[in-house]
Amino acid sequence: MSDIPLLDRYREAGYTITAEANALRVVAEHPISDRIRQVFKAKKPELLRELAAEYREKAIFAARDAADLGDWRAPLDLGRLHLCGNCARFAFGPDAGGLGTCALHGDGLLPFLPFDCPDFTVERQADRTRVHQSAPAAH
Ligand code: SF4
Repeated sequence: MSDIPLLDRYREAGYTITAEANALRVVAEHPISDRIRQVFKAKKPELLRELAAEYREKAIFAARDAADLGDWRAPLDLGRLHLCGNCARFAFGPDAGGLGTCALHGDGLLPFLPFDCPDFTVERQADRTRVHQSAPAAH
């Protein structure tokens, strides 16, 4: 099995794939044969999972950008301050920019509020989306 996500493989083959609710939308510049339709039907659950993860990652990046961390760039880059959103102990809530949960300190933490937490860790967890530690460049 290839490690390349299905979405990437189909996009490279010229398909545009999106999700609307629980439906998969596939568009191509060329006609889509019945056989290929069957392939997409069989792969629908996996493609919907990949799309959900992709949308989630985009929402997290958008929330980070909206947090306007430019003024905090130096202490974040130097590791003097941290973001819960970059910590392996943090789980994002349904709203990527809203309150999330720390495995050590519990609920109610903002993902993109810089502060000095002695328990911050980047130790990888398999099921979370990581965000770069650095604040985005000031515009
Ligand atoms: S350990 Fe600290 S930085 Fe990490 S999620 Fe908990 S409160 Fe946030």
